[in-house]
Amino acid sequence: MKKCKQCDQEKSIDNFYKTIKKQDGTQSYDSTCKDCRIINKKQYQKTDQYKKYTKTYRNKNKENINKNAKDYYIKNKDTEEYKKRKSDYQKTEKSKEYQKKYYQEHKKPLTTK
Ligand SMILES: [Zn+2]
Repeated sequence: MKKCKQCDQEKSIDNFYKTIKKQDGTQSYDSTCKDCRIINKKQYQKTDQYKKYTKTYRNKNKENINKNAKDYYIKNKDTEEYKKRKSDYQKTEKSKEYQKKYYQEHKKPLTTK
């Protein structure tokens, strides 16, 4: 049995997460029980700090996604497959509408290189 630091309850050892000390490799147990860990995590997820963190994380990923798309474009822009897909896209209604809108806004046709 082990007493949890947080809820002060005596609980069997399997209610605690195992931790291993790096220096000597000995195994010990968390001073906080699993139940308290879950509560702590939930409370943490409500905090502004956590929300800020997830927002930053998402923004970072967004940049990566954009970067990947750009890399893909640079690598593939001269391939036949890409050109075909692009010309197929330009025949779609969605694309025509976009080009029309672009023309109205910029007073010049959208030049695709
Ligand atoms: Zn506890």
